Amino acid sequence: MTSVDAAGAGPIRLTGDARAAYRPASSARITAGFWRHWQQVNASTTTPGAWEQLHRAGNVHDLGLAAGTTSGQYRNDHPFMDTDVYKWLEAVSWLTQAGMADDELGDRAAAVVALLGAAQEDDGYLNSYFQVAQPGARFADLRWGHELYSAGHLIQAAVARFRATGNADLLRIAVGMADLIDRSFGTEPGRIDLVDGHPGIETALVELYRTTGDHRYLGRAEYFLDRRGHGLLGPARRPPDTFGPQYWQDHVPFRDAGTVQGHAVRQLYLMAGAADIYLETGDERLLAACERLWEDMAATKTYLTGGVGSHHLDEAFGDPYELPAERAYCETCAAIASIQLGWRLFLATGRARYAELVERTLYNGFLGGVSLGGDTFSYVNPLQVRDGHHPTGGDMDPARVRWFRCACCPPNMMRLFASLQHYAVASDSSAVAVTQYISGRYRAETAEGELELAVRSALPWHGETEIRIEQAPSAPVALRLRVPAWSDGMAVGVNGVPVPACPQDGWIVIAAAWAAGDSVALSFGTPVRLVRADPRVDAARDAVALERGPLVFCFESADLPVGHRLDDLVLAQDAPALVRQVAGLPGMTGIQVTGRSRPGRRPLWWPYGPIPPQEEPDPAGATVTATAIPYFARGNRQPGAMRVWLPSS
Ligand SMILES: [Zn+2]
Repeated sequence: MTSVDAAGAGPIRLTGDARAAYRPASSARITAGFWRHWQQVNASTTTPGAWEQLHRAGNVHDLGLAAGTTSGQYRNDHPFMDTDVYKWLEAVSWLTQAGMADDELGDRAAAVVALLGAAQEDDGYLNSYFQVAQPGARFADLRWGHELYSAGHLIQAAVARFRATGNADLLRIAVGMADLIDRSFGTEPGRIDLVDGHPGIETALVELYRTTGDHRYLGRAEYFLDRRGHGLLGPARRPPDTFGPQYWQDHVPFRDAGTVQGHAVRQLYLMAGAADIYLETGDERLLAACERLWEDMAATKTYLTGGVGSHHLDEAFGDPYELPAERAYCETCAAIASIQLGWRLFLATGRARYAELVERTLYNGFLGGVSLGGDTFSYVNPLQVRDGHHPTGGDMDPARVRWFRCACCPPNMMRLFASLQHYAVASDSSAVAVTQYISGRYRAETAEGELELAVRSALPWHGETEIRIEQAPSAPVALRLRVPAWSDGMAVGVNGVPVPACPQDGWIVIAAAWAAGDSVALSFGTPVRLVRADPRVDAARDAVALERGPLVFCFESADLPVGHRLDDLVLAQDAPALVRQVAGLPGMTGIQVTGRSRPGRRPLWWPYGPIPPQEEPDPAGATVTATAIPYFARGNRQPGAMRVWLPSS
């Protein structure tokens, strides 16, 4: 195995040959502010708590069965139980790199790696479900077995552990499985010529190529991408549901696809894999397809929160503009996949719009997937819960729960929280780009040398941000600073002297021969914004939503005066909005507005009727003052109704 020095690298470490507009910062660490708080919650509560859940749910027990260290029955019938353990291991690795994992977490991770080593078969095979629950069926159920998807998460965890600690123990295990896959699949006689029902192996194999320098992995990733879309998997059928081959993106070759379709996480993981292959091969048709599909998704299939996937039944993208608020599926994993894809497309193209959607999704669709305490989660992230909603207690209910029977989302959040520092700053030969204003220390390479930055930002609550140069090459280097689309006016100063801010294509560029101690002060305008949806989004027609900075806001029942129902609240489009602290949610800034409550109508035997004459205006109703809270903070008080979109007058 070729070992490459990768100290400080995050989930993506491009090779020297990569066709990238930008390369991720060579090292990154979040040091303060909003996201530091969330990383601490992840390090102290979310990730340690998952250890207990992985035992309770049976994931560790199942690996013990495969290793022969435990006896009993295989627990849970999902074939991808191992992936929750892999994602947790990946999270612990990034926490270790950030200096945020305590000894106990480190010891537990080492114990799991030892268990995986004991469970792995001599030929490299490792998957507890097919070793224990379905022996003899190895690679026989590629459609639903998630074997290569599971291997993908094993590889990602191994790469993370290697980059974070230099320890190759898990990497050796992952390489054993990757080599088995490489020699088992292909178009050659005697090999299995089929793809996995759930993409994910593609990004993993590219990252393994980047880590080891072994071209076989890149070639095998290309094979899996190229063989999809030829109907090899057939229609996704699991009686009584028939989803069609688009469910797993097997209906059209990737390069010819025109719209995002099917299972949202599958679609986005596949696109991320294609973006990775483009980055390492320069295959322009892959990039063109990725950009075309992303544009289609952003323009017609994305919620205000950045969440994607509107169908519950098949966890899939809906038709264009089919974005129901209360039936939004918006799986947390799909938000994570969108962020991972957006970062890759930004690296490939340098376009600000990819970072723009990453930011929106981070603060809203992603962050809303966990409670403020970091110990309960939501799998689905709708934009509305009605008055009178009866919680089902099930995994797909908007109410947060401790763990899921299908627990893909929580450990996926853990690994993104722990690696978030790697999604903020990037560089090319002559410039360093700040794409997310996340308080931290970043080192980025240019042709002139290394630039080290300290970013300190008051986002998302205020727009004040300072970028201090800690170390700089002697030759001039440009700072490219993303101007968020939400920013309404901005001020820029260099070493205390105002400079004109003339954004171009979403960036302001300041080129200078920097010296340690120089600083750039940015002040983004963060007024309250009332936003509307395209009229084709039926669920939001004639409605408005509140935004401020990168945050989307919502109302909950708890924010209304006693006796008023959220479903009766109407907002005036010219209503003054005041920024206020939120009662009952310490540290949370909300938006206070005055609306009116439609007069309580008598329950009608029939809720339909003729259109009232023009001269008969809607009764005014009582004036109501309510404070909207950040969408991510929903569901942390007593259960009740919640709305992002409100009817407007
Ligand atoms: Zn999930």
